[in-house]
Amino acid sequence: MNNSHTTAPSPRTRIRRIPELASYDRSALYQIIDESYVCHIAFHDGENSHCIPTACWRDEDFLYIHGSNGGRLTKMLLGRRQVSIAITHVDGLVLAKSAFSHTMNYRSAVIYGAFELIEGREQKLAAMDVFMDKIAAGRKQEARPGNDKELAATSVLRISLVEAASKISNTLPVDKEEDLDLPVWAGVLPLRVVHGEPIHANSEGLTTPDYVKNWAQ
Ligand SMILES: Cc1cc2nc3c(=O)[nH]c(=O)nc-3n(C[C@H](O)[C@H](O)[C@H](O)COP(=O)(O)OP(=O)(O)OC[C@H]3O[C@@H](n4cnc5c(N)ncnc54)[C@H](O)[C@@H]3O)c2cc1C
Repeated sequence: MNNSHTTAPSPRTRIRRIPELASYDRSALYQIIDESYVCHIAFHDGENSHCIPTACWRDEDFLYIHGSNGGRLTKMLLGRRQVSIAITHVDGLVLAKSAFSHTMNYRSAVIYGAFELIEGREQKLAAMDVFMDKIAAGRKQEARPGNDKELAATSVLRISLVEAASKISNTLPVDKEEDLDLPVWAGVLPLRVVHGEPIHANSEGLTTPDYVKNWAQ
């Protein structure tokens, strides 16, 4: 239950609610990001607040995203707008004997800051290669590389992971003393992401790569 936690990197990342679940540890943060394909980016456009899901990946101490130059999200983020990003894994449903003591086991991260644009063809391609490696190691050597037109139409952005906090809950149900003898099942229903069997498309006669063969194992 007690996570390794040192000091929050800033006042807005200090976890006040149940601080014993806080972690400001880099390796915990990296693990949460690396296990996720998606982050949710919250920002204010001057009129409304938005929270937009998008694909993400990490390289060293930065979280990366990419998007069409014409998209609102990209345009907003190019303006160095302050954002808050959330990444969440639900690891289990915690069923207590009393309704109000039910909870969830989770690992989540919240990141603050502003995105910066990756400039230069080589830098952009290098960042996208890391994304391809996340999808499937070795895939970048097989797929047709992005051409100049595709590359020019896409923005790749990154945000520093310096201002981030993780919150990790991994508990059995905690019931009040007076509820412990209630004849109600209590425990945890674990949840996890499962790799399904690959679905082949336009691949007749082609060798199936190992990362596809081994996907569901
Ligand atoms: C799957 C899941 C289910 C949850 N269900 C509930 C629920 O039903 N009710 C409920 O009240 N809360 C729930 N939480 C916890 C919730 O995310 C917040 O931590 C909590 O509501 C306190 O929010 P706050 O803004 O008051 O926290 P504060 O501690 O005041 O937040 C201060 C700072 O701590 C950081 N922080 C806060 N929460 C998180 C987090 N989860 N992960 C990483 N950094 C964080 C942020 O930087 C934030 O600005 C759930 C979390 C997860 C991941």
